[in-house]
Amino acid sequence: MNTPVTASFSDLGLAAAIVESLTALGYEEPTPIQQAAIPPLLAGRDILGQAATGTGKTAAFALPLLQRLSPDAPAPSQPAILVLVPTRELAMQVAEAFHKYGRAIGAMVVPIYGGQAFDQQIRALRRGVHVVVATPGRALDHLRRKTLDLTALKAVVLDEADEMLDMGFAEEIEGILDAVPPTRQAALFSATLPPRIAAIAERHLSDPARIQIAREPSTGKLPSVRQTAYVVARAHKVAALGRILDLEAPTLALIFCRTRTEVDALAETLASRGYRAEALHGGMTQEQRDRVMKKTRTGGVDLLVATDVAARGLDIEQISHVVNFNVPDSPATYVHRIGRTGRAGREGVAITLAEPREHRMLRNIEQLTRRKVEVAQLPTVLDVRARRLEITRATLRETILAGESDGFRVVVESLADEFDLMDIAMASVQIAHGALAGDDGADGVEIPIAVAAAERSRPDRERAPRASKPRGRTTGMTRIYVGAGRKQNLRPTDLVGAITNEARVDARSIGTIEISERFSLVEVPDDLVDGVIRALRGGTIKGKKLTVRRDMATSR
Ligand code: ADP
Ligand code: MG
Repeated sequence: MNTPVTASFSDLGLAAAIVESLTALGYEEPTPIQQAAIPPLLAGRDILGQAATGTGKTAAFALPLLQRLSPDAPAPSQPAILVLVPTRELAMQVAEAFHKYGRAIGAMVVPIYGGQAFDQQIRALRRGVHVVVATPGRALDHLRRKTLDLTALKAVVLDEADEMLDMGFAEEIEGILDAVPPTRQAALFSATLPPRIAAIAERHLSDPARIQIAREPSTGKLPSVRQTAYVVARAHKVAALGRILDLEAPTLALIFCRTRTEVDALAETLASRGYRAEALHGGMTQEQRDRVMKKTRTGGVDLLVATDVAARGLDIEQISHVVNFNVPDSPATYVHRIGRTGRAGREGVAITLAEPREHRMLRNIEQLTRRKVEVAQLPTVLDVRARRLEITRATLRETILAGESDGFRVVVESLADEFDLMDIAMASVQIAHGALAGDDGADGVEIPIAVAAAERSRPDRERAPRASKPRGRTTGMTRIYVGAGRKQNLRPTDLVGAITNEARVDARSIGTIEISERFSLVEVPDDLVDGVIRALRGGTIKGKKLTVRRDMATSR
């Protein structure tokens, strides 16, 4: 007999109209959570589901609930299904999914979330809807204003329940659940099941079917994500990130920062370095966030810098890389974050920038995920160059294979009279490379990892430059030591300002500037060094007299 190994959507009991819309979406067979959740939900049971992100939870609850509950009235004045989600983005995303799954049966869906005008939401609710997808705060606001009537509710879903609790929505959730009929069906989904979730399940679910799905049962939790960490001192993180991004060449990287301020600062820095970077966090207006999401989905963004909250549950197919700009506070957050990549069977990449003291937290993450996080050496400038050349080579190869360059034959032929074909080819590659990789300007900044470790082990003593291993020096340039650094809020512009003003040196002739915790190093041309030192000693930097001398570690 030819029995299929996995049940089809129809086998699970879904109606033809719904199955058809799934075929149109390219869903060939149900995912494990869908296999497990659809039959009990169709039968009217409550469920408690634990599954990682990206396992297809939305369809797992949306399909059976839509089939059971919505098609009765054309536009009921009281919604039949309420889905609570932690964020606005998720509200929009889940509402959109409901809309797609339920189009064939005419389901009306509205997302309601904070930050959007009440009027608009009230109008939509008045017109009548089958499904409301809401953030808990806004749902409760509407309940209190009596603009949301849940007295006829047939089913309630708590999606990403652990996240909702982490965001402090416990009271709102309780308030809402108290306002819905006790007879309603309920489904609770959560990536983790800590006691607080178990308590909610205990109180509000009745005899639930319990479902637990590993992301890919055979190989553990995170099968298709390559995990790498780099240990970098805080001061060098941005430079390190730039280099890593150049090496990895992500289609779309989702970069996590801890706070809104960090998100804004990093997005701005990256944008100023020529990346197509956008910020996403809860401090932005809804319009701003919508614009960023739209731009991201249409391929206009390479780097999306976000807080955990703003990126929660987002399903953006193109995300090739997740970057933790800091080691996340809890391993669970780490797992959540990297669940954003490696979708649709493609390999994802998770990169973590750890400060030396955060090394231990990486071990915790390894323990929880039961997978190795490889600690890699930061790519060197040469690695980045090699990688850029590799990209240029691949692009040329594709262009040759495409065979559409004939229009340039006459250029080559005319040059061939005068030059060797190899020389012509090399010059063409040079130009192509310039166009593809910018100025090949691998930043040239040194990122002293070993030094960072030394700094950490002796946190409150000034690190004598002599004590570090000698750093490379640009030919023709001499390093000057200045006795102030980050601790004194010294910025590169302060040094440039002092040197150009006091010593009357053109800013363009100043070389690499390195600001450490308590001192700074700045490169100036050999022949100007004495004049610069004299001038700086005579003047002030940020209003203070500072130690200024040749850097012992590198001068002859
Ligand atoms: P979760 O809520 O578990 O993170 P989603 O419901 O957001 O996951 O689904 C993740 C992605 O997988 C979505 O892009 C969705 O369209 C897709 N998907 C869901 N079920 C299937 C399926 N059976 N076949 C193919 N793709 C699916
Ligand atoms: Mg989801």
